[in-house]
Amino acid sequence: MITASPGARITPDSGVPAGDWRQLWRESVTDASELLALLGLSRLAAQLPPADAGFALRVPRGFVARMRHDDPHDPLLLQVLPQLAELDEAPGFTADAVGDLAAREAQGVLHKYRGRALLIASGSCAINCRYCFRRHFPYGEEMAAAGQWRKALEHVRDDASISELILSGGDPLALSTAKLEELSRGLADIPHVTRLRIHTRLPVVLPERIDAAFTHWLAALPLQKVVVLHANHANEFDAGVDAACARLRAAGATLLNQSVLLHGVNDDADALAALSERMFGAGVLPYYLHQLDRVQGAAHFEVDDARALALLEAVRARLPGYLVPKLVREIGGEPSKRPL
Ligand SMILES: *Cc1c(COP(=O)(O)O)cnc(C)c1O
Ligand code: SF4
Repeated sequence: MITASPGARITPDSGVPAGDWRQLWRESVTDASELLALLGLSRLAAQLPPADAGFALRVPRGFVARMRHDDPHDPLLLQVLPQLAELDEAPGFTADAVGDLAAREAQGVLHKYRGRALLIASGSCAINCRYCFRRHFPYGEEMAAAGQWRKALEHVRDDASISELILSGGDPLALSTAKLEELSRGLADIPHVTRLRIHTRLPVVLPERIDAAFTHWLAALPLQKVVVLHANHANEFDAGVDAACARLRAAGATLLNQSVLLHGVNDDADALAALSERMFGAGVLPYYLHQLDRVQGAAHFEVDDARALALLEAVRARLPGYLVPKLVREIGGEPSKRPL
């Protein structure tokens, strides 16, 4: 077992034996009553919504271990626990808040911004986040079947303006490393792609995913590599996450993080500042702080724009500029994320 103590020698080879993460993934908690019992919160079981409010609970046990015992307001628990509030109707919160899901699914590739193409590499995730648009599209199967990748890569090959390929999802690291190898072989004859970016929550929620086989693959890629993590609270980091980040950096990746501003989880200047400081301790720089996508069932997480801006001002007043994320909202049809 490796730890990220300062000065520890970390190589891409360090860490977890290949394949173990799949077993850990299968052993995730999927029963809300069990989750509450593990945390000494069984008294809350009567308040659970029927049938998980239509979006299954899923959370790796290692992530549960980072939750505080006997605290119904734990910021990690609130991200995954089904709530009765999800059943409330809220005006403006729709099933397809991001608009273009049908198109995404059919093509597997989204090319909205100049120079960057985003590949929906997988529809699966290791964790089900209650605020996510995925709650209405629980497509379990992998969308990056070989045939679909071929089409997506043809699009990238035919457009020399694309210099960066973004693997997203779902979570692209839910794919096996063998699948990722297949994908990168398809990239080998596309010389205009010089950067590979991976948007993933797995190094945070299941750091065992960053195993030797994966880091070998990443280190060997003849591309610049950026890994954009997704953590919303400092408590999501522990020694295992630090070690996974160290392995990613040893494999040559630049590490960034995106968060979602979530009422009750991180809508507090101290929490946001602590998150930035903690991620920097793991060698990760803050990138985006997203305003919530307005998906049905997530209205109780929303923070209005005026408060969001005030929070960011408070964070800016206490941290160096490089630890302040950009506050953005995604608006369909715009040439980039919209800064607030
Ligand atoms: C968010 C997003 C990107 C990445 O945007 P950056 O500002 O480069 O992080 C690229 N393509 C699509 C379709 C996106 O939604
Ligand atoms: S896509 Fe990201 S935010 Fe959504 S459920 Fe998966 S890990 Fe969570």
